[in-house]
Amino acid sequence: MTLIFSFRDLPSLDKLLSSDAFKPLLADYGHQLVSRQVRLVLEDLRQSIRENKPLAIDLKAPELSHKMAQLVRSSLNQSMQSRLRLVFNLTGVVLHTNLGRALLPEMAVEAVVEAMRNPMNLEYDLISGGRGDRDDLIEDLLCELTGAEAATVVNNNAAAVLLMLNSLAYEREVVVSRGELVEIGGAFRIPDIMKRANAKLVEIGTTNRTHARDYEQAISDKTSMLMKVHCSNYEISGFTKEVSVAEVSTIAQKHGLPATVDLGSGTLVDLTKWGLPAEVTVRQTIEAGADIVTFSGDKLLGGPQAGLIVGRADLIAQIKKNPLKRALRVGKITLAALEPILQLYRSPELLAERLTTMRLFTRAPSAIKQTAEALQASLQQWVGADFQVEVAPMASQIGSGAMPVELLDSYGLAIRYVGAGRPGRHLLALEERLRGLSKPVIGRIAEDTLLLDMRCLESHQEAEFSEQLQQDLTSI
Ligand SMILES: *Cc1c(COP(=O)(O)O)cnc(C)c1O
Repeated sequence: MTLIFSFRDLPSLDKLLSSDAFKPLLADYGHQLVSRQVRLVLEDLRQSIRENKPLAIDLKAPELSHKMAQLVRSSLNQSMQSRLRLVFNLTGVVLHTNLGRALLPEMAVEAVVEAMRNPMNLEYDLISGGRGDRDDLIEDLLCELTGAEAATVVNNNAAAVLLMLNSLAYEREVVVSRGELVEIGGAFRIPDIMKRANAKLVEIGTTNRTHARDYEQAISDKTSMLMKVHCSNYEISGFTKEVSVAEVSTIAQKHGLPATVDLGSGTLVDLTKWGLPAEVTVRQTIEAGADIVTFSGDKLLGGPQAGLIVGRADLIAQIKKNPLKRALRVGKITLAALEPILQLYRSPELLAERLTTMRLFTRAPSAIKQTAEALQASLQQWVGADFQVEVAPMASQIGSGAMPVELLDSYGLAIRYVGAGRPGRHLLALEERLRGLSKPVIGRIAEDTLLLDMRCLESHQEAEFSEQLQQDLTSI
């Protein structure tokens, strides 16, 4: 049945807003928002009439204002839905930059909640009653954990590198190996940051080989520092030569220059203790002679987004004096989350139990397999007979550019298309269906298979996962 309406059938805004049907809506959302939404709904209807399209509503129905109120409420509900959505990260990448990187343990979450609710001594010295420094809240801890003399914290590691260069290399030269001119996802490139920091990049060596003499020869009276950058998301293999932090530091010291290291991920503990790939620690880098080390708060550290700068006290003092420090400083929410995370590192034996990211990195393949097995049937039912769901071994990644070539043994559900025709399009459609769930499920496609890696879906979330699939089936 197609009903034809004219513009004259549309109810007026004033009439709708003064009707009884709109009273609850006005009470819930207020006049301004409701009238804006009514206008939008009326405009949609007008457009449909203009284009002779079927309307979302019968304009001649009795109780039209009630029907309109329903329509407006549902479109308002839709527009009120948070744009920030929680998802299931089944990509196999634990620290997924696009999915928010590190997940925080409950005690850090609670500290954040309290910090948002209450006043605190963010920059207030409780002993003198005078003004304090927000860095004081975490400086001692960072020094204890890294062996550095001093520390400061900014918004993220990109900010840390920018601030470090702008403070210590302003209008002077910075010597970096060509093998370390890294680009991190999201447009962080060492040469670009260097320019914005108003420092001059002096490239030395070649992509695959840089020697100690390359550093020596590049030093002039314009040199401000020798800098090393962790390759993070790539690895150069084959005929290669890299100069170690220790060697670079020795050369720098001989010339009275600081050696700085952008460590990227930056871990505070030896990960091999948990059977994880080897990664140099911040402490080892300081002990090797680095004068400044910068690293991220939400990569291997497993904390909130932040950029940590540790090193020599005189250089940290210079960095803190830079007016840019004020522009790049962290808020109280970050500090509230960071402090308890750093406290956890004082008991490293307990990290795998207490630090969420470490728990995920070290989760036993047998436990991950159990999760995959527990969810196989409900997923098979949800995808239907055109697909086959199987428990399969997979390889997870740490993520965020940490150890790009090292893989962690994992398990998950592998979904193959077994219906008629080529699988490509069907798998893409299935991936889209998973993303369309109210808590979207994010997997990845490889070799005509949709892979859902279960490393980051812990046993206490299994019920939530299968219940959502069940509910989605019954709602169709
Ligand atoms: C990740 C990374 C950065 C950027 O750190 P953010 O915390 O994402 O700002 C800078 N340098 C290196 C080497 C990195 O790996």
